[in-house]
Amino acid sequence: AKWVYTFGDGKAEGEAGMKNLLGGKGANLAEMSNLGLPVPPGFTITTEVCTYYYDHGSSYPPELKGEVEKALAYVGRLTGRTFGDAENPLLVSVRSGARASMPGMMDTVLNLGLNDLTVQALAKGAGDERFAYDSYRRFITMYSNVVLGVEHHHFEEALDEYKDRRGYSLDTDLTADDWKALIPRYKAIIEKELGKAFPQEPEEQLWGAIGAVFGSWMNNRAIKYRELHGIPASWGTAVNVQAMVFGNMGETSATGVAFTRNPSTGEKELYGEFLINAQGEDVVAGIRTPQDITEKARVASGSDKPSMERAMADAYHELVRIYGILEKHYRDMQDMEFTVETGKLWMLQTRNGKRTAKAALRIAVELASEGLITQEEAITRVEPAALDQLLHPMIDPKADRKILATGLPASPGAASGEVVFNSEDAEAAKKAGRKVILVRIETSPEDIHGMHAAEGILTTRGGMTSHAAVVARGMGKPCVSGAGSIRVDYNGQTMSVAGQTLKKGDILTIDGANGQVLLGQVKMLEPELSGEFATLMGWADKVRQMKVRANAETPLDAKTARNFGAEGIGLCRTEHMFFEGDRIIAVREMILADDEAGRRAALAKLLPMQRADFVQLFTIMSGLPVTIRLLDPPLHEFLPHTETEMQEVATAMKASVDKLKRRAAELHEFNPMLGFRGCRLAVAYPEIAEMQARAILEAAVEAGRATGKPIVPEIMVPLVMTKAELDLVKARIVAMAEAVAKETGVKVEYQVGTMIELPRAALRASEIAETAEFFSFGTNDLTQTALGISRDDAASFLGSYTQKGILPADPFVTIDQEGVGELIRIAAERGRTARRGIKLGICGEHGGDPASIHFCQSVGLDYVSCSPYRVPIARLAAAQAAL
Ligand code: PEP
Ligand code: MG
Repeated sequence: AKWVYTFGDGKAEGEAGMKNLLGGKGANLAEMSNLGLPVPPGFTITTEVCTYYYDHGSSYPPELKGEVEKALAYVGRLTGRTFGDAENPLLVSVRSGARASMPGMMDTVLNLGLNDLTVQALAKGAGDERFAYDSYRRFITMYSNVVLGVEHHHFEEALDEYKDRRGYSLDTDLTADDWKALIPRYKAIIEKELGKAFPQEPEEQLWGAIGAVFGSWMNNRAIKYRELHGIPASWGTAVNVQAMVFGNMGETSATGVAFTRNPSTGEKELYGEFLINAQGEDVVAGIRTPQDITEKARVASGSDKPSMERAMADAYHELVRIYGILEKHYRDMQDMEFTVETGKLWMLQTRNGKRTAKAALRIAVELASEGLITQEEAITRVEPAALDQLLHPMIDPKADRKILATGLPASPGAASGEVVFNSEDAEAAKKAGRKVILVRIETSPEDIHGMHAAEGILTTRGGMTSHAAVVARGMGKPCVSGAGSIRVDYNGQTMSVAGQTLKKGDILTIDGANGQVLLGQVKMLEPELSGEFATLMGWADKVRQMKVRANAETPLDAKTARNFGAEGIGLCRTEHMFFEGDRIIAVREMILADDEAGRRAALAKLLPMQRADFVQLFTIMSGLPVTIRLLDPPLHEFLPHTETEMQEVATAMKASVDKLKRRAAELHEFNPMLGFRGCRLAVAYPEIAEMQARAILEAAVEAGRATGKPIVPEIMVPLVMTKAELDLVKARIVAMAEAVAKETGVKVEYQVGTMIELPRAALRASEIAETAEFFSFGTNDLTQTALGISRDDAASFLGSYTQKGILPADPFVTIDQEGVGELIRIAAERGRTARRGIKLGICGEHGGDPASIHFCQSVGLDYVSCSPYRVPIARLAAAQAAL
């Protein structure tokens, strides 16, 4: 095997395609060399050496030493220097470089090769003693810290004490003699800490640094990072050894970082910062304030320090030239590191730059418009899930803000709602159709259901990676975390801040964009979906094959969905409509009725309300398909739970509390999710399904007349397990359709289909498809029933399953392809056999999850349906899946 790859002087043994072997940094250094860009010569020790090192008890391949020596000699020839030479020493940097950039590992050692002798040569060569001794002390501290493990503060304390004694305030106040005087103290610290001297031998220094890079691959921080990002330990890291160029050689030298486009807005401009007379770590350390690169940026920032454009015009123009070459070559925005040594620009790194969702969108669209990439490539350049950041309402900038407190902007978007202090209240309010902000001191996995139910989450403790922040971002919900000035009193159900006390039910607004907590309702603006967003979505729509519908029942949700480009409604959960306004009273009357006649009387009250709902939905979605599901949840969910609520309802309905309680007890179930719900309701109480069918069909007639476009409702029966069940319910619907046609004189076209959300239904799909005109996969229940994991109780143990790698992901978020996915494949295949071209969709939460959408494409589903805010995510993911 070949263990070492050289680069420099317009050529290289490696290239950008060799990231697995050379790591990201090494591969790109080789590539830049091949492009003829000014890269200090050097070599990369491959990731295979890292693997070997760990497979062979921390030892190296026998050939490595020779290969490194040869490579050092090669670098020496290119630079005209010799490693370890007392007259003309070659100095190097040593950096780690895995395939993916990986914080937590040893990063960099600069100025390696300096010792008591070579430092003199460096001083002589540069004609600058101060520079040489400054470099030497930097090397000693950096090497001691990252390679030898001596903590940095020892050196800082020595330096501070020295500065105090001399009356200096800045490091730059120190002269060459000062650094000379400090270096023996640094060495003494090392001897004291380690019991041995700082290594003077350059070769020993080099192997020490190489060993430290490989060693850092297995340090705790790196292991943790790999765990979190699914990076296998077997990848290993490479080591890059490169001739030093010095940014600290006086006022014509500098070091900096630059992006070829603005990483937060995406604007096409050279964006970055640099520091004159400094080395790389000074920029990172943040001790000195960096300067702007362009004059335009300097004017914008109002900085009184000159821009690179003005201070180092030649190097700046060289950087501009190179950035053009790099973008054309890599066809993506680049994040570059550079050093200017006495006026000459050197490139130390380039890679595809990290960016915000907004920037990703703009850069993808502009690169395609500039002809650097195709529209298809542009589609693949934007992470669908990242669109979440852009899709949320924001507070109208002109609105009045009564700021109560400020926390961390933990998850984007703004939301208003009633304050609730626990997840149970959040869920209850949501079921009742009210919007809430869940306010907690901090959240835990038990709060997931409450967070789902809430419009937004506010915590008084915890940072950007607290449970609340991470989960809210995942859900695409606004979240402000760590608003520490707020006092929450769970017992009293109040929160106090700045002399104000809010009770449960008071209205609060949070702004996840800036962390503000605001009193009352604040005016919101819907996200603007124009410009690059619209362009990219247009491209995505051209290539995708699956349609994207929304799960929506309220007019607001339906409108939002349409604005986001939904091509219909894939799931209207009619039970949500039962909580709207005061219709819950009629619902409860229906539930409490003693016989069919009583139920029918109550249902007659509900009919006009349901019909009006559907007219609205059909009108908003005019021209698009709308799937309406018959009542699904167990009836007891509609009954009041607390004593006071019972009392209220009893009074309103002129029934006794006793009767209410008796009925509630009758309806009580040990396992309601597997109980009296879904089409079982329609089987036992066909009159409920009949009322809903009538409301749907009459609404179709009415909306059809009003809009002039025929409405084709899709009536969906939930939780079917056998064909016989569906036959029974369908017969009622068909009879009702005939009745409505006769009464209105209009024959509405409609379809009756079913949800596939039980394993038995998936297996018996061919029979069921004889009756069902379409299938919609209810993957929430299908996951629950296939895995035997309660969707409501999973939170308490599912975490250990994903952490221990038993399940690759939360199966309620990303489809379990092997199990649930197989049931879907079987059902699709068997359904198609019985009814050619049967329409197939998905309406579980997975319909908005990019990975699951890829799976849906592979099964050939006709559409996915998801919550309104995920519609653009689904459109983009469906396009990526089709490519
Ligand atoms: C499902 O089960 O996937 C579904 C969409 O229905 P619900 O979530 O209403 O049970
Ligand atoms: Mg379901």
